[in-house]
Amino acid sequence: MAQPKSFRARNILTLPLLGAFLRWRWGRAVLQSIFFLLALLLIIDGFTGPQLAPRNLATVAPWVHYRGLIVLVLLLMGNLFCMACPFHLSRSLAKRLSKRGRRFPRHLRNKWLSIAALFTIFFLYEWLDLWASPLLTAWVIIAYIAASFVLDAIFTESPFCKYVCPLGAFNFAYSTLSPTQIQVMNPQICAHCQGKECVNGSWSPQRLVRTDTIPVQTPDGGLTYEARQVEQGPQGVLGCPTTLYPPQLRSNMDCILCLDCVRACPHQNIALIARPPASELFRPHLWLKRWDMALFVIILSFMGLMNAFGMVPPVYALQEQLAQTFAIRSEFILLALIFLAGNIVLPISLTLSAAYLTRIFTRQKHPLRHIVAAFAPAFVPLGFGIWFAHYAFHFLITPLSIVPVLQEFLGQSGEWARFSTPVNADIISFIQALALLGGFALSLLIAQQTALRLFKRQGMLGFLPWALLLLVMMGFAFAIFTMPMEMRGSALMG
Ligand code: SF4
Ligand code: SF4
Repeated sequence: MAQPKSFRARNILTLPLLGAFLRWRWGRAVLQSIFFLLALLLIIDGFTGPQLAPRNLATVAPWVHYRGLIVLVLLLMGNLFCMACPFHLSRSLAKRLSKRGRRFPRHLRNKWLSIAALFTIFFLYEWLDLWASPLLTAWVIIAYIAASFVLDAIFTESPFCKYVCPLGAFNFAYSTLSPTQIQVMNPQICAHCQGKECVNGSWSPQRLVRTDTIPVQTPDGGLTYEARQVEQGPQGVLGCPTTLYPPQLRSNMDCILCLDCVRACPHQNIALIARPPASELFRPHLWLKRWDMALFVIILSFMGLMNAFGMVPPVYALQEQLAQTFAIRSEFILLALIFLAGNIVLPISLTLSAAYLTRIFTRQKHPLRHIVAAFAPAFVPLGFGIWFAHYAFHFLITPLSIVPVLQEFLGQSGEWARFSTPVNADIISFIQALALLGGFALSLLIAQQTALRLFKRQGMLGFLPWALLLLVMMGFAFAIFTMPMEMRGSALMG
């Protein structure tokens, strides 16, 4: 089937070598196997290697390098880390072993669970100093593998990826900025496709054959219909693990870029297209008008602030102050209070206040939920800028330190003097400022366009509360990043 011209140039799956590799039935399994092997190495070093964070693969690889690279890859390419995620191997195994499970409970099919999972992992990271403990990090990796296996063995869709995994939640939110997206090429074909294999899968225990009558363009631009035999069987692949339906897909949210839909579609009707970065954030009504969805991206941007705040001196002064005022000795309770306030209470109350002020200023009666949902995409670029500035800092302190750590893991002596040179501090500051300012500018633009669209002539009045909130977040982020930050997991040796 010839691809429409508009797709041919933009379809990454038609690129030589790369496209063929991505479409190949085992392409993803190869990537996953490599990452699974890496995960095993981290677990081994976590249990048996030196319990010194900067010298152990289990701490340096995930907390310094993975996080530094993930923001770059999301920004430049897309959700490639979910595509290569090693935890999917256990998912696939669970699916084969469990036959057909049941659906994930309806009341859990939302982003509240993702918010709770993100909150938990960031809290544990801070409370248990995960970045400093190779052993605990190894246990976290094992917990991931076990959780993905158990959940996917019990339920039909892939609830671990879609609702539970904090890494996936982060990738979902920020892949909405990415320059690639899954898209069907010809919706007319989908309308005549009986099996909808993209979501249902082309796998079945017995061989099944059916005939689809598909519209095709004639050379003179007319339309004719063609009968095509479609086969399902044991050689088929599973359908979309996160139960997305590609003909209706307009966003990267919840797409793990597994390309199972591409492999399952019997009419080769799905493309991985190049698109303008962040374009979906400008489109109205693309995300569902749900509290959980809107607050998920807003809270994640505040988590970026709090995560960075946890590494600068004022956090210790705040802990001290709280301890004295409320006579609390437990670090667990102190941290829990700070995390609850900064990651949950503050974002929700500020968001509701902004939405309420918007209604007062514009004198329009939109429900608060609709206003918050409309402005939520504006928090993605600034939130991403904050995370980028933070992760880039840790990564660029010693970007090549993984080499001597690997050398020592393999029993050689680590060439620390050669590979632990930091990137110039001014360059790091410049990159951080660029990420923050770029994210802030884009957030303002999205918020402004949203306000104009929603409130027409009162648009600028509706924009004001959100611009102010974004400005406060930006000011807070700048204040944090100009303070001395802990160099967690990195060491300047040699
Ligand atoms: S994308 Fe492919 S499998 Fe899905 S409905 Fe369209 S033609 Fe059918
Ligand atoms: S199968 Fe679903 S998750 Fe995988 S690439 Fe297609 S739409 Fe995305």
